[in-house]
Amino acid sequence: TGYGTEPPLQRFLASCHQEFKSDNSGELADYIPELKRANPAHFGISLVTIDGHVYEVGDSAAPFTIQSVSKAFVFALALDLVGEARVASAIGVEPSGEAFNSIRLTNDNKPFNPMVNAGAIACSGLIHEVDGRAAFERIRDKLGQFAGRELDVDDAVHASETATGNRNRAIAWLLRNYLVLQDGVDAVLDIYFRQCAILVTARDLAVMAATLANRGVNPVTGVQVVTPHVVARTLSVMTSSGMYDYAGEWIYRVGMPAKSGVGGGIVAALPSQLGLGTFSPLLDGHFNSVRGLKVCEALSARFDLHMLNRS
Ligand code: GLU
Repeated sequence: TGYGTEPPLQRFLASCHQEFKSDNSGELADYIPELKRANPAHFGISLVTIDGHVYEVGDSAAPFTIQSVSKAFVFALALDLVGEARVASAIGVEPSGEAFNSIRLTNDNKPFNPMVNAGAIACSGLIHEVDGRAAFERIRDKLGQFAGRELDVDDAVHASETATGNRNRAIAWLLRNYLVLQDGVDAVLDIYFRQCAILVTARDLAVMAATLANRGVNPVTGVQVVTPHVVARTLSVMTSSGMYDYAGEWIYRVGMPAKSGVGGGIVAALPSQLGLGTFSPLLDGHFNSVRGLKVCEALSARFDLHMLNRS
């Protein structure tokens, strides 16, 4: 049948896909109206090793908006562009214990970390300080280097979030009040909304994650996208704060730095090994993709991938 000659990894991903595709639990994100139009049946998995092998199952080429998964990569870009000291002066690295869209800041009036909206908007602000109107193109270009191809924007999702994103506007103005944002609040918000509407596939996410796993070198294109130092800082905040209010459970069970988004994407990176990208838009109560979470848990258990269980 040929089935038996497939590599064990491909076989395992196919069996995960088969098993979990019938799970229709969870809900589509609806607070950004356009996200309700996603197809709940979509389910893609991709895994890329640091030597550039690509494994894919299901809707691994289906485009969806990156949403909060962008936060990890824009944080890496901010570290690269303005340096660690400037980033630290604007954004903390402590888990918030609050929802991703919380308006609460730390006692010294900074965002808790770059994986929540306040911290991500501050990151977009740092890039805007350097690049002004060219900031979004810088972000799109850098995320494209991580993915190994040029990425587009979903204009309908961007418009939908622009129309409804008043909570993020409130966060941005609070940041302006405390001088975390120095200028151009509306411009910074537009950069943030646009970066969340960048279109990716599960395969793109796997290559992006594999670039983090491979000390900043994209294993498919060979391009050094960021330094190993920036990668280590990025993976650190993904470890402590990448999976919404499930970050503690996640690192306990799965043991890989990861980031998820309300579009249904998850990236997970196991340093020196592999990157994983999953897409399924049905979300659980923590806003994590139900099927994506199951894939990551199963894969970690089956291949003993917990990062604190390395031999
Ligand atoms: N654009 C979304 C927002 O700011 C991203 C949320 C997410 O993926 O967590 O609400």
